Amino acid sequence: MRIAVVGTGYVGLVTGTCFSEMGVHVTCVDVDERKIDALKQGTIPIYEPGLETLVHKNMKSGRLHFSTRLEDVLDDVDVVFSAVGTPPDEDGSADLKYVLEVARTIGQHLNHYVVVVTKSTVPVGTALKVKKVIDEELKRREVNIEFDVASNPEFLKEGNAVKDFMSPDRVVVGVESERARKIMARLYKPFMIVSDRLIFTDIPSAEMIKYAANSMLATRISFMNDIANLCELVGADVNMVRKGIGSDTRIGKKFLYAGCGYGGSCFPKDVKALIKTAADNGYSMRVLQAVEEVNADQKLVLFRKLVKYYGDEQALHGKVIALWGLSFKPETDDMREAPSLVLIDLLLKAGATVKVYDPVAMDECHRRIGDSVTYATNMYDAAQGADALMLVTEWKELRMPNVETLRQEMRGRLILDGRNILDGEELQQAGFEYHCIGK
Ligand code: NAD
Repeated sequence: MRIAVVGTGYVGLVTGTCFSEMGVHVTCVDVDERKIDALKQGTIPIYEPGLETLVHKNMKSGRLHFSTRLEDVLDDVDVVFSAVGTPPDEDGSADLKYVLEVARTIGQHLNHYVVVVTKSTVPVGTALKVKKVIDEELKRREVNIEFDVASNPEFLKEGNAVKDFMSPDRVVVGVESERARKIMARLYKPFMIVSDRLIFTDIPSAEMIKYAANSMLATRISFMNDIANLCELVGADVNMVRKGIGSDTRIGKKFLYAGCGYGGSCFPKDVKALIKTAADNGYSMRVLQAVEEVNADQKLVLFRKLVKYYGDEQALHGKVIALWGLSFKPETDDMREAPSLVLIDLLLKAGATVKVYDPVAMDECHRRIGDSVTYATNMYDAAQGADALMLVTEWKELRMPNVETLRQEMRGRLILDGRNILDGEELQQAGFEYHCIGK
C-alpha cells in the first residue's frame, strides 16, 4: 500500500515512519521546506526516542520519502493522512486552517479514489468540512472523482511516541463507507498481530473520542492537584492519598500525580476546544471549566511557595533562581504551554536572575525566550550560586541529585520540587528547606 502523511511534526513523522517500518510505501509531506530538506539529509527536527534510527532505516530501504508538494504525491497513493497542526484559535476553538488547506490541495489535484484520513485532533464535524472543501474543488474542476473521508485520532504520547504507535492500546477509526473501512483495516493489520485493538466507529464519535480521552486525563490531573492543595491545608500527604486511591481498580494508578500543572501541545488546547464546542452547541462543560481553572492556578504554585519563603515578591529582586526541567514533560523537547515558561516569566518580572537546565529542551527554550535567562551546561551548573532551586520537569537524570554537590554549588538552601520526585528527607538532613506539592 502507498500513503502520504501530510505534516511532519510529532504525529506525522512518527505515523509515516512507523507505517514505513511495517512495509507501507510512505511519503511524508510538509510545507516547511527547511524541515523537509533536513529530513532528506536524515536530520530529525524533533527529539523523540527511537525515531531517528527508524527514519534512517526506512529511508535506506526506499520506503520512506519526503516532499514539500502534496500535489506531486497524490497520484501515487491510496490513503492521505492529514497530521497538520490544529492550534487554538483566539476563542479557544481548534484552528482548522491547515486541515482545510490540505483538503483544498487534495481537491485541486485528486485524480483517483483515495481515503482522506484526518489524524489531527479536530472537533466533531471537521471530517464533513474536509469533505465539503474537497467536493467544492472537484466541482470547480468539473470532475467526478470518488473519495472517502475518515477520522483516525492519534493517541501517542510524546517521549514514547514510537512505542505507542507500534503497540497501540487501541486504534480508533471513524468511517462512513465499507470501502474505507476495509482499506483502513488492511493498513493497520500489521499493528494488530498480538490482539485486535482496532475500533471502528462513526466519524463524529471518533472525533469526540480523542477530546473526551484527553479531557478525562486532564481532569484526573487537575483533580489530584486540587486534592494536593487541600492536603497541604489539612496536613495530609497527597502521595499517600494517591497510592490509597490508585489501588482501587475502578480508579487505577495512572495520571494521579500532583504537580505544578499540565502543559503540552494537547491537553490545554483540547480541553479549551471541547469547552468551545459545547458552548457553540448551547452547552456548558462545567467540569472542564474547573479543570482549566485549577490548572492555570497550579502553574503558579511554585512561585507562590517561593514568595511565601521570602516573605514578599519584592524580596525576589536580585535573587538567583535555578530551574531544572523546561519541557512540559520528560523525554521531549516540546515546550508548548510548559509550566516552566509561566514560572520564568513570573521570576523575571519579579527581578530575579533565572538559570535553567534541561537535558534536551535548551535550544527550544532559547528559540522561545532568547537570552532572558542563563543557560547552564548541566544541572549543577544551573544550581551554582542559586538562592533557590525549582524542579519543574521530572527528567530521570534530575531525580537523584548529589546532595553534597548541591550544597557546595548553591548559595541558598531552598528547594521546591514541583513533581514530588526528590528525596525530601535526604535534602532536609543535608540542611535544605524542602517543599513539594501536596504535603
Ligand atoms: P506539529 O506542530 O509538531 O506539526 C505540524 C506540522 O504540519 C508542521 O511541521 C507544519 O509545518 C505542517 N503543516 C502545516 N500546514 C501544512 C500544510 N498545509 N501542508 C503540509 N504541512 C503542513 O504538530 P503535532 O504535535 O504533530 O500535532 C499535529 C496534530 O496531531 C494536532 O492536531 C495535535 O493536536 C494532534 N496530536 C498531537 C499529539 C502530540 O503529542 N503532539 C498527540 C496526538 C494528537
